[in-house]
Order: sequence, then C-alpha cells, then structure tokens
Amino acid sequence: MTETVRLREVGMRDGLQSIATVVPTEVKLAWLDAEYAAGVREIEVSSFVPPKLLPQLADAEAVVRHAMTLPGLKVSALIPNSRGAERGLALGVPEMNFVLSVSEGHNLSNVRRTTEESIEDFRRVVRLCRDSGKNARINCGLATSFGCTIEGDVDEDRVRRIAGEVAEAGADGIILADTVGYGQPAAIERVFRKVIADLAPLPIAAHFHDTRGLGLANVLAAFNAGCREFDASLGGLGGCPYAPGATGNIVMEDTAFLFESMGLDTGIDIDALVEVRRIIARALPEVTLYGAIAKAGLPRNFHPVAEAA
Ligand code: ZN
Repeated sequence: MTETVRLREVGMRDGLQSIATVVPTEVKLAWLDAEYAAGVREIEVSSFVPPKLLPQLADAEAVVRHAMTLPGLKVSALIPNSRGAERGLALGVPEMNFVLSVSEGHNLSNVRRTTEESIEDFRRVVRLCRDSGKNARINCGLATSFGCTIEGDVDEDRVRRIAGEVAEAGADGIILADTVGYGQPAAIERVFRKVIADLAPLPIAAHFHDTRGLGLANVLAAFNAGCREFDASLGGLGGCPYAPGATGNIVMEDTAFLFESMGLDTGIDIDALVEVRRIIARALPEVTLYGAIAKAGLPRNFHPVAEAA
C-alpha cells in the first residue's frame, strides 16, 4: 500500500499576511480553485484577526465560505483568540488553528501575554468550541519551537511540556512551527520524535520556514521522526517579519516533489501546481516567488505516485 503525506497550503494566510498589498478576493478564490484542481486538499485559507490589524485578510468570511463549497477540501483558518473562534464557529469552519509561542519573549512581544496565559486562552477557546456543539477541530500551533529571534535557543523540554499541556487542554492536533527559520535537522528530528512518542496518536504537524535554506532538510528530518503532515506555501510565499527580504515558508511545489519522488503519495499534480503560480505572479508582481521545480521543471525520471499505483 502506498504511504501518503498530507501537505497543507498556508500561503493564503501565512503568505498574504506578510505582504502589504491587499490581494482582491476574486484572485484569492481563483487561487483556491486552481490549487484544489491541482489536487491540494488542505488549505489554511485565512485568519480571523481583526480586519483593522490585517486588511489583507479582511475578506476571511468570503474566502472561507467559498472554500467550504469545494468537495473534500479540508478548510482551516487561523484564530488569534476567542473572538476569532466565534467568527469561525459562526461560519461553521471545520478546522481552526490557534497559535502561541513556546518562547516567553516571543509570546510577550506578539500578544503581550505570557505563554502560560496563552495556554489558558487556548483552554477557553477549546471550551467555547466544544460548548458550541459545532464539532470544529481545534489545533494548536507552537510557534518558535526551534529557536526565537528574541531568546535565541528554545529549550526542547519546554516544547515537550507545552505540547503536553495543549494536548491536555483538548487540542485535536499540534503544529510544531519553526516560525523564524532557526531549526536544523538534528534538533527537528529529536523534538518530533519526543513529542510524537509523548502524545501518539495525536497528529503532530510541521510548519517550517526556509529562511536559512534548511527547509526541505528539516521536512525530511520531521518525516523520519514520523511526522506525516506538513505546511507549505505556493512559491514559498510569506517572509519572515524579523528578516526583511528573507525567503518564506517552504515551497509547496518542491515539498510535493520531494515526497512524490520518494514514492509517497501527496495527491498533487506538480505541473498543475506550478501553473497556479501565474495567478500570484499576476496579482503580486513585486513579490519574489521561490522554488526549484518551477525553475528547472520535473526531471525525466520522475514518476508521480498516483500514476504508478
Ligand atoms: Zn509561518
């Protein structure tokens, strides 16, 4: 039986929130449809942050509504707090991702709360969702799990402890995030092994940035530790707010290529996915899109898993 990995597009949220240009809603919907047609079945489509803070994502409701009409698409949205969760619940969004930082300094500077206070917020969000009877899945992203621009090192046992606490709070899944691109493969593999062993069968996903060129190496390290769910963004859209001009999320096309070339099914048609970049290139001509496969094309010895099966 062919093994599968799940790739989740996060460019519409993580990518667009870091770009000042407001992409028109109809372009976002065209992007959604095109990625769906290329076989992508998990997309974090927006964030329920106050529109005043992020005008780029002010159309969250419209984008979520459209995404939910695509059959079989796992639609998720980021929620910063209970207010965001209420917006998600009102729409009936099936999956929401709360985020807190493992690094105390990062959490304080981001949301002016201690990590412990944010874990308490997460508990409240989980209760709110359970009480609503809406059956929405609530994941918790642990930002700065592999290093922090403010604190530098982040203690691996602290990552493990906080992962345990949010699992205890009722998370349906945990996303270990290398928010600032400080992670390296040995640490990634070690932490994923520990957290997966601690919390199985709870799904532990990976969210990596390619800020320092180790993105795909880190993907493979997490994969070797047992991780099967990965965030990525088309063209590597999304920068790092702390490193202007730096590359963003790991590139969706290249990540799909990595796994498909290893014989793991992603369900994605890579050539079709590369074509979707045109939509972004037209809408955001000033933004650099990354990716090796888009530049070089698929090699002639490449055999998509779905075809071989
Ligand atoms: Zn990110």
